[in-house]
Amino acid sequence: MDQQVNQLVRLAPAKINLALHVTGQRDDGYHLLESFVAFAEIGDRLCVEHSESDEFVVSGRFASHVPISSSNLVIKARDRLRGLLDLKQQHSRVRIHLEKNLPVASGIGGGSSDAAAALVALACLWSPNLDRKVLRDEIGLGLGADVPMCVDAKPLLAKGIGQETTLVDGFPALALVMANPGPAVNTSAIFAALKQRNNPGLPPLPPSLELSDMVKWLGETRNDLQEVAVSVEPEIGEALSELDQSGAAFARMSGSGATCFGIFSSIEAATEAAGAIQARRPGWFVVATEAR
Ligand code: ATP
Repeated sequence: MDQQVNQLVRLAPAKINLALHVTGQRDDGYHLLESFVAFAEIGDRLCVEHSESDEFVVSGRFASHVPISSSNLVIKARDRLRGLLDLKQQHSRVRIHLEKNLPVASGIGGGSSDAAAALVALACLWSPNLDRKVLRDEIGLGLGADVPMCVDAKPLLAKGIGQETTLVDGFPALALVMANPGPAVNTSAIFAALKQRNNPGLPPLPPSLELSDMVKWLGETRNDLQEVAVSVEPEIGEALSELDQSGAAFARMSGSGATCFGIFSSIEAATEAAGAIQARRPGWFVVATEAR
């Protein structure tokens, strides 16, 4: 007899844009990007289970920063998947608990990752054989350009508006410190302030993905949103300096900010640096993690 899955817990990992080149703009206003993306071991946590009624509960450090209404991407993901599967609400009620551990509007795709985790978890409950590609491209993309890559949640190269992804095999686990000084960043305002949108794409990845080769390669790449973001929000520059001064082999902003990451030689070195930065900047979100 088939065993029905009743409860699922899923990590919605932080998305890190290790490099992000803005290469153009479509007629509909969306920017064209080339980005190398990895996913952290830390993230939000989603617990999904069958229930007598539809419920949505949010807890965690950043719970008060997200809507608990239907504008939450988790609820949108639930409703769209239900629609696609043509499920009646009374036959598919679920309780969803989102533990919101990631800062909101901070360049690490928390909302997109939550939506992706909700889609994957709910598909397991409702339709275990549903093709991942349907989740990714038919529902995910409709929820946001970064949702498909968050369904993949593996090191990848992203093109187009972010939805054309190629997984990168053999990527090493990178020891990182993530540091966010606090202010929410308005992604559209950062894109709107860009002076140059037709930048060159990413150089080819090095043949070896060892840490030293990756750091050298990253040095040849950019985050084209960083300069504008630092000028709008000078604390981003302070986060980058903190990471540099704490011994990061490489430091950069993710997405449109304000979260920055520093790459360290080991998780021990990253943990020590994170502790020192947090002690100097008690109000910041600072965490050591691995990305892969
Ligand atoms: P990106 O790196 O993709 O630009 P981000 O980290 O800058 O993402 P998010 O944290 O995903 O931004 O939040 C973007 C907006 O989405 C916020 O204004 C927030 O109100 C809304 N939102 C809706 N649902 C969620 C959710 N579950 N988590 C976070 N934000 C959400």
